[in-house]
Order: sequence, then C-alpha cells, then structure tokens
Amino acid sequence: MISVEGLSKWFGPFAALKDIDLKVDRGEKIVICGPSGSGKSTLVRCLNGLEDHQSGRITVAGLEVMNDRRRLEQVRLKVGMVFQNFNLFPQMTVLRNLTVGQTWILRKSQRDAEALAFEYLEKVRIPEQAHKYPSQLSGGQQQRVAIARSLCMQPEVMLFDEPTSALDPEMVKEVLGTMTELAGSGMTMVCVTHEMGFARQVADRIVFMDEGRIVEEAPPAQFFQAPRSRRAATFLKQVL
Ligand code: ATP
Ligand code: MG
Repeated sequence: MISVEGLSKWFGPFAALKDIDLKVDRGEKIVICGPSGSGKSTLVRCLNGLEDHQSGRITVAGLEVMNDRRRLEQVRLKVGMVFQNFNLFPQMTVLRNLTVGQTWILRKSQRDAEALAFEYLEKVRIPEQAHKYPSQLSGGQQQRVAIARSLCMQPEVMLFDEPTSALDPEMVKEVLGTMTELAGSGMTMVCVTHEMGFARQVADRIVFMDEGRIVEEAPPAQFFQAPRSRRAATFLKQVL
C-alpha cells in the first residue's frame, strides 16, 4: 500500500531524511517513534506530498507521489491525515466539516454526505455534537471529529502525526480508543505517536527514527523487550 525507496529530503543544506526505505502492506499498522527532530513528521508529510522530496521514490495506493498538482490531489484523496492540532474549519459546524469535502470534492449530494457523516460521528461516539462549532467541543471531541472528517473521504490509508499530544490525559484515552477501533476495522495506518501502550497493543511494526534515518524496525514485542540499537534503548527509557 505504501512503498518508500531511498527517500532523502533536505531543507536547504540540512538533511532531514536520509535514505529511507519503508514498506507498509494493506491493513498494516505502523507506529513511528523517535526523538524530537528525528524526521517523523517530515516522513509522514512526504507520504501525502505535503512536503516535497529531492530523491527516492514514494508510491501510495498505486500512485507515485510527485510534485504535480493533479497527482497530489489524487494522492490526497486516498490518504487521510490527522494532525496534532485538529485543523478543523472553525467557521463551520461539525456536520459541515464532515460534509464539505464530500460535496465539493467527491461531488456527493448533501443528503448522502450527511448520511455518511452521521455514520462516522456515531463511530467516533459524538453524533450529538453535529450542530456545534469546533470551538464548542473539548480537544478530544475535536480530534475525533477530525478523524471522522478524514474517514468521510473514504481514504485507503490514514496518517496520524501525534494526534494526542495536544490533549489532556483523560482525552488522550478517548482518541486512542477511536484509533484502536479504526485499526480493528482493517484500515492501513501510519501513526507517529509516543503513546507506547497504543503502539504495543495496535502496531504490527514499530519504526524507530533518529537523525533522519530509520534506525530500527521491529514488531512491538521485540522492540520493547530488546531494542537492538542503543539509541532506541535510551529513547524507551525516557518514554516508558
Ligand atoms: P517532533 O517529535 O519534535 O515533532 P519530528 O521527528 O517530527 O520531531 P521533524 O518535524 O520531521 O521532526 O523535523 C526533522 C528536522 O527537520 C528537524 O531538525 C527540523 O528542525 C527540520 N525541519 C522540519 N521542517 C523544516 C522546515 N520547513 N525548514 C527547515 N527545517 C525543517
Ligand atoms: Mg513531529
């Protein structure tokens, strides 16, 4: 579903990603972790073309990700992304947040769009919030709306970049619950997160990054019990 080969990315003279290889099969769940500045966000942003890359090849859902407006539109239709700061449209109700992409981009009728929106609002357990504005919701509720909004576009892959790190602890749980349920539904997921409980429970593989490289890649049991690299061991001491 995702294939990354020899990916390198520079910001000016600074190499943010160095020769990254990564494969993610359909239905697989990957957790990416690593120290601040190691390139996790840059990597996931490259996957849906939010960041351009200078060398290597990325294909997602059969499409090569390249810097071409048409292509990027095609890629982003297949790839949903959820960020740390929700990024909801503040001037629109929750329901409108969930229908606007469906009606404008997918050209669905308002009625069909609303039906699907309510289906996903039920799934994330906040159908009663449909007519509120984002600012009237808790952070955890906003993040669940953001997840539902992405799902309404029926993506083939979901990318998460630290979706719970802006949330209070009690809200972290509800968002991780939503993500765990999504994983159970068979979605292909790439999640940057420091929630190691979630990683242990949900991930098929943990990808550990440091200084722009993938240093280690292993199933959770192996990664948590016996990390091979010293850098991963040090990192785990800090987050566990
Ligand atoms: P964090 O855990 O803090 O979110 P990260 O692993 O997601 O860190 P990235 O945001 O991918 O790290 O950044 C990787 C490196 O690239 C960092 O050194 C960062 O300073 C640099 N970087 C990121 N975006 C830019 C940019 N737009 N211009 C220049 N340098 C950048
Ligand atoms: Mg980041």
